[in-house]
Amino acid sequence: MADDLRDKILTALSSVKTEGGDIVSLGMVSGLQIGADKSVFFALEVDPAMGTKMEPLRREAEQAVKNISGIKDVAVVLTAEKAEPDPHGMKKNPPLKLPARHIIAVGSGKGGVGKSTVAFNVSATLAALGHKVALLDADIYGPSVPRLSGLSGQKPKTNDSGKIIPLEAYGMKIMSIGFMVDEEKPMIWRGPMVQTAFYQMLRDVDWGSDTDVLDFLIIDMPPGTGDVQLTLAQKVEATGAVIVSTPQDLALIDARKAIAMFEKTNVKVLGLIENMSTYICPNCGHEDHVFGHGGAREEAAKRGVPFLGEIPLNGKIREQSDAGQRVTDESYTQLVHKLLDALK
Ligand code: ADP
Repeated sequence: MADDLRDKILTALSSVKTEGGDIVSLGMVSGLQIGADKSVFFALEVDPAMGTKMEPLRREAEQAVKNISGIKDVAVVLTAEKAEPDPHGMKKNPPLKLPARHIIAVGSGKGGVGKSTVAFNVSATLAALGHKVALLDADIYGPSVPRLSGLSGQKPKTNDSGKIIPLEAYGMKIMSIGFMVDEEKPMIWRGPMVQTAFYQMLRDVDWGSDTDVLDFLIIDMPPGTGDVQLTLAQKVEATGAVIVSTPQDLALIDARKAIAMFEKTNVKVLGLIENMSTYICPNCGHEDHVFGHGGAREEAAKRGVPFLGEIPLNGKIREQSDAGQRVTDESYTQLVHKLLDALK
């Protein structure tokens, strides 16, 4: 389907002519992305010297794609690639074709809201339901998947073709930058290095093949909005993103920014999850709303994105997580079923 549409777009674009030929044959179209909602984004690479003279060409290309039936939004940007230095060679890296039916990013507006715990347990729950799952910990600044999976201290090996063989736990493949570097050492990364590290973890890990396709590749993103999010949008055909937030206003403000970032870069927001929701006292069963309650559900309704569920604030969740165990709380099963529904 997506490939059909891609062909149609390229055919339409090859009718757009400029000096020396059409824009497709001249290799000017780059970074073509088709969102799950059929929104289209690409860049036209132009000679920096031509600058704004290329604006009519940009509009013509946009219109050519808009004329294809079924296409919703089209965004075309002009880039003067040669004018910008690219020391890490990211621009030369092509979009990745990964062996996964669904690629889902788990994001949050800020740290400490339980994003990694959610990413790990959603993945483990999907695997327990019989799906073929891999989890990539792309939270480069604070990788916690080694601890959550109980795999701390283990090192992955490489196969004959030089690819990294992901580790395995809870029936899924797992990769984290934390397996490659000292977990205790804080890492100081600059933007381009982050992009390259993320790209390489996707490209150089043996996730599967055309005949051994994952049902889900779940990506635990760094909190906030930054370079990894951009690389995801530019280099990965993601199914979409889920955003984790606590019910607090403050976390919600950040969650809103995260939603806006994914939407702006044409990554579909599959839904919002409220973590650390109701607190249930383990002694008396009394319910309390430590960080408020229902904020994420209201926000989701306001933004027109699905609300995928609430996970209680629960000492057992923290204990199981710290011990490298899968969280068995019922709320996870419900959440995963909602997510599967959102993908239908
Ligand atoms: P983030 O990835 O957003 O920085 P983490 O997943 O590392 O957050 O979680 C931060 C801390 O909160 C961890 O100690 C984790 O065990 C704990 N935690 C996460 N979710 C819950 C929950 N629902 N109930 C209790 N503790 C939780």
